[in-house]
Amino acid sequence: MTQTILIIDDSPDIHQLLKVRLKNLDLALAHALSGAEGIVKAAEAQPDLILLDVHMPEASGFDVCRDLKAHSSTQDIPVIFLTGAADVDQKVLGFELGAVDYIQKPFDSAELNARVRAALRTKRFQDMLAQRAMIDGLTGLWNRTHFEMRLQDEVAATQRYDRPLSLIMLDVDHFKKLNDNHGHPFGDEVLQAVGEALADTARTSDWACRYGGEEFAVILRETNLEGALILAERLRKLIEGLTLRNKGQDVQVTASFGVSCSELCMNPLDFSRRWLITSADGALYAAKHAGRNRVRFAEQKATVPATETNVGDGI
Ligand SMILES: [Mg+2]
Repeated sequence: MTQTILIIDDSPDIHQLLKVRLKNLDLALAHALSGAEGIVKAAEAQPDLILLDVHMPEASGFDVCRDLKAHSSTQDIPVIFLTGAADVDQKVLGFELGAVDYIQKPFDSAELNARVRAALRTKRFQDMLAQRAMIDGLTGLWNRTHFEMRLQDEVAATQRYDRPLSLIMLDVDHFKKLNDNHGHPFGDEVLQAVGEALADTARTSDWACRYGGEEFAVILRETNLEGALILAERLRKLIEGLTLRNKGQDVQVTASFGVSCSELCMNPLDFSRRWLITSADGALYAAKHAGRNRVRFAEQKATVPATETNVGDGI
């Protein structure tokens, strides 16, 4: 994937020079001619690296770096300072402010390329580790930690832009019995097969997650109840149709589904991550009690029930 560098420098000549010097690297470049513009662009574009001029007429590079490091959306973006003179104090201050490196003007082409490549390599590795910490080891889906974070962000976006958000929660039917009758390795196979079905069916804008145990969740961005129900039914059929065999014996696997949507929340002030999870979970509970292997959606309600139901246990 192409990595992006944001250059923040008050001199248009420096932008042009860097563009020429970095042309051999497979990079996308973004440009800002002042600190204020750079701070906005860094938050928006989420570049993989920032090249930051120390000497700028309004906010200095040091001020900009302090600002970038003070905000959660930009604090992890590595910064390389572009310094003028060989001033040791300035370089030390840059590192103290959280910069990963500095490059002295005028640029030596080989040194510039080497330092930029090294910073980008580290960034790519950090991104990979961060992503790995968010992935469920058994199924390869997003894990519970990522689910909670993503849902929080999507709920906030839904409130801000007034667009629908849906959540599907599903639970493998009689999973305990499957484990008891066929052994835990087979149980793991079932979870992997369900995980695969979810990953294959989810659209690129959806977030398919392992919620915990044999329970899964799919966050459906900008999706109304009707769209969510169609997807849930498609998933239900897909899981029902899975061909799973253990010791020469066909094993039928099914799952129950609970669907909720922001449209079902009567009072927008009540809409929250907890509201969405609790209402989808309630619908899942209803699907289990109606005989399993079916989709149910949440009732319209204004408030969150006092206690959260834990559908995964013993049903
Ligand atoms: Mg300057």
